[in-house]
Amino acid sequence: MQTCLHCGKDFSPPAPVCPHCQKSLVPNYPSMGSKVFMVIWIFFVALVVVLLISMFTR
Ligand SMILES: [Zn+2]
Repeated sequence: MQTCLHCGKDFSPPAPVCPHCQKSLVPNYPSMGSKVFMVIWIFFVALVVVLLISMFTR
């Protein structure tokens, strides 16, 4: 069960719209997208750090 952000009632998770207040539950997606962007950014920074370390140890 998942709780609606708008009316606070419970509903079964795979629902794009709340069955009680009919409001969209989509606003969760942008935060997930920024989290994926953050992971890619951290991976890129780690790759640059590894390249710099490999340059200095040679
Ligand atoms: Zn609701």
